[in-house]
Amino acid sequence: MGTDGQHLTIVGGGLAGALLAILLAQRGWSVDVFERRGDPRLHGYAGGRSINLALAERGLHALRQANADREVMAQAVMMRGRYVHPLQGESSLQRYGRDDSEVIWSINRGDLNIVLLDIAESHGARLHFDHGLSSVDFEARTATFGERSHAFTALVGADGAGSTLRRQMAPHIALNERTEWLDHGYKELEIPPAANGDFRIEPNALHIWPRGHYMCIALPNDERTFTVTLFMPNAGVYPSFENVQTADDAEALFARDFPDALPLMPELRADYDANPVGMLGTLYLDSWHLDGRAVLIGDAAHAMVPFHGQGMNCAFEDCVALADQLADHVSLADAFAAFEAQRKPDAAAIQQMALENYIEMRDMVDDAGFLLQRELELALQDRHPGRFVPHYSMVSFMRIPYSVALHRSEVQRDILVDATRGLESLDAVDWDTVDAAVLAALEPI
Ligand SMILES: Cc1cc2nc3c(=O)[nH]c(=O)nc-3n(C[C@H](O)[C@H](O)[C@H](O)COP(=O)(O)OP(=O)(O)OC[C@H]3O[C@@H](n4cnc5c(N)ncnc54)[C@H](O)[C@@H]3O)c2cc1C
Repeated sequence: MGTDGQHLTIVGGGLAGALLAILLAQRGWSVDVFERRGDPRLHGYAGGRSINLALAERGLHALRQANADREVMAQAVMMRGRYVHPLQGESSLQRYGRDDSEVIWSINRGDLNIVLLDIAESHGARLHFDHGLSSVDFEARTATFGERSHAFTALVGADGAGSTLRRQMAPHIALNERTEWLDHGYKELEIPPAANGDFRIEPNALHIWPRGHYMCIALPNDERTFTVTLFMPNAGVYPSFENVQTADDAEALFARDFPDALPLMPELRADYDANPVGMLGTLYLDSWHLDGRAVLIGDAAHAMVPFHGQGMNCAFEDCVALADQLADHVSLADAFAAFEAQRKPDAAAIQQMALENYIEMRDMVDDAGFLLQRELELALQDRHPGRFVPHYSMVSFMRIPYSVALHRSEVQRDILVDATRGLESLDAVDWDTVDAAVLAALEPI
């Protein structure tokens, strides 16, 4: 453990802040967590709405390190694949992996946060709710949380995409902060349980209604509801949030484009009116740390668009990496620098893959060429186990660095595109050529 750093102050008690508090407290660090919001264990979470997240192997592995996996998984709902609802034709399940050992999990954000906060506290972390960071004096090493002044050794910024700590660091270091906003936003809606209390549609899947430049998705909750998220452009073409503003507009859009979803959503009109349009962006920084005094993790360092379901998973990997670097280095400055060097290329890689996945989800999952490539991907996985691993599997079922997954995915995509060009089925694939390309371009993982 770092000799000049027995104590750390975490700003933000959300997903990353709470998990990091556990990992550090378990290793004997003295930890204070300051969270702007009230204690969700007393007041409920985010206005009581069910908001869920896809948890994959990277996040699950981090939860195992914190001994939080059992409690979290008790409430998780398995998602085997994408259940695609085309406008015309049959809906169907496209598996993510080979079998039920390769799945992702839908978990409730509020419940997850509460589990992590409880465990952090049980290990001795001190949690201070209703204490938002307002300013930092890096010379005096004091941080102000509302009325309260707090002396710190170092600050960890787990305060999300709009990080106040990042803003406080900016005058002291060349962050070169830029956010590329997507010109698409999102709105959360809900499918309640059926009259008999059961799920209204297949529970063990992530449902997608792909419609070209916009889409709906739905993830199951353990209380048998689904959180539905509508993604579409903010303005311009129809439909967009600019021209679908009222409950009447929303009902007309769903009747036209999501006709099988509309009858599942009796509260559509009220939800559409009540829930805000969220913005989506990718945050890039040149630096994540200010010598040994402050470091950023999770969304505060590298917010991304949500289309790979990896923002939290990546933030949890950050927590494990930072705790490990703190164990391996004597000085905090060295630990923070090593953490940044390790994680920055990987964060950049998943940010890029998340942007690319939006196109795949909204536009390609019902495209014949894409489905043929997917079929070939699975065939090549069988022919070259451990060497040709599908893109989704590398990101979601493995823990190889995201940057490696990105590079291999690009190589593999070229092979898939070349091998299926002009073909309608795998019958005509030139297997000798494809096998040779795989062997030449890809080392075993
Ligand atoms: C629509 C949508 C869907 C998503 N789906 C997925 C998914 O399926 N899977 C996935 O892995 N990721 C998903 N994500 C991404 C995921 O939500 C984030 O990556 C994750 O929440 C990041 O965790 P964090 O702890 O870094 O930040 P946050 O979860 O934002 O936590 C930040 C915390 O800091 C607190 N805070 C803020 N300012 C201050 C301050 N000044 N002082 C003190 N405390 C402060 C906040 O109240 C909050 O508790 C999704 C994101 C969106 C927008």
